[in-house]
Amino acid sequence: MKTVISAKEIEDLIATGGDVDAATKDAILTPSAKDALRDYSNSRRGTGNSASPSPPARVLNSRSPKAELEAYFNSPHAHALKEQLCEVGRRLWQRAYVDGNGGNIAIRAGEDIALCTPTLVSKGFMKPEDMCLVDFEGNQLCGTKKRTSEILMHLQIMKRQPKAVATCHCHPPYSTGFAVAGLAPPTCMIPEYEVFASVAVAPYRTPGTPEMGKLVADLADKHNTILMANHGVVSWSHNNVEDAYFKMEILEAYCRTVLVTAQLGKSPNTFTPAQLQDLLKIKQSLGIPDPRHGLKECELCDNDQWRPGVACAVPAKPEGSAGYDSEAEAAVQAITDQILAQMK
Ligand SMILES: [Zn+2]
Repeated sequence: MKTVISAKEIEDLIATGGDVDAATKDAILTPSAKDALRDYSNSRRGTGNSASPSPPARVLNSRSPKAELEAYFNSPHAHALKEQLCEVGRRLWQRAYVDGNGGNIAIRAGEDIALCTPTLVSKGFMKPEDMCLVDFEGNQLCGTKKRTSEILMHLQIMKRQPKAVATCHCHPPYSTGFAVAGLAPPTCMIPEYEVFASVAVAPYRTPGTPEMGKLVADLADKHNTILMANHGVVSWSHNNVEDAYFKMEILEAYCRTVLVTAQLGKSPNTFTPAQLQDLLKIKQSLGIPDPRHGLKECELCDNDQWRPGVACAVPAKPEGSAGYDSEAEAAVQAITDQILAQMK
C-alpha cells in the first residue's frame, strides 16, 4: 500500500537532512506536500528561473539596522510577497468579501516583522508600492502609505501562533451573518470545511484595539478561522497567504450552503462519527489544528438534532447539561422564520 506524505513530513525530512527523493518516489503526496516539494526543488535548483526569489540570507527582526530593513523591503523577495498581498486583495474584492476600504492582510517577513496592507485603500486596487513593513508592536518600519489600523490583531495572532505565516481579514456576508448572530456554523456536512477550517467565534470589541486582537489570538491555538462577532472573519495559515485566503472561500461557501440547506425543509444528512474521524485524520496529517483532534469517535457529535445554528459539542456536552445555547438557537430560528416569511 502506498504511504501518504504530508507537507509537515517533507519539512521534517528536509530539516533532518533525510533523503526526500527516495521518501517521496512512490508515495501519495497531499496538495501542500506537493507545494513543499516544489519549493524544495526550486531552492535546490537555485533561484535563477524560480518563481519565488530567495529570502534574505539571515532572518531579519525589528532590531536589524534600518538600512538592512530598507534593503529587504525593496528586495525581489519582499516584492514577490507584496504582489501576493495585492493578488489576495483583488480576489477578496472581486468576491465581495470586502467593502469600502475594509479588510486587511499580512505576511510574516522575519522574526518579529511583517508586511501588510495599507489603511484607507480598497483591497481590489492595491499596488506593491502601497505595502508597509511593521514590527510586531505595530510600529511602521518601511513604506510610504500608513499601515492598516487593524494590524494589531494580525500581529497578535502571529505572536501567539508561531506557525502563522500569513493572516487575512475580511467581511464576507454569509460568514459575517453567522458572526453577527454569534454562532459558529454547524459541522459535519461538507468535507472541505471539516478538513481545512477550524472555526470559533470571538466576542465583539472595537476593531483595531489590542483587546480585540487578544480575544482573537486566544483562539488561534486551536482555530485557524475566527468569526469576529458583529464584524467579520480573520484566518491564518501555516503555508502561505493564498492558503489563509482559501479559508475565507471555504467558510463563505459553507455558510451559504448551510443557509440553503436550512431552507429545504428537511433535516440534512450529516457525517457519522466514523466518517468525521476519517476527515479529522487527514486534517491532522496536514498540520491543521482542531480542538477535536484526539477525541474518540463516540465523543464527536453527529449533529443528529440539526437545526440552523446548531454546532457540534466540542468537547462532548457534560451529562445533564442543557442543550446547546438554547437562546442562540431560538434567535437563529427567529431569523430563519423571518427570512422564510419574506420569501413567501
Ligand atoms: Zn474589519
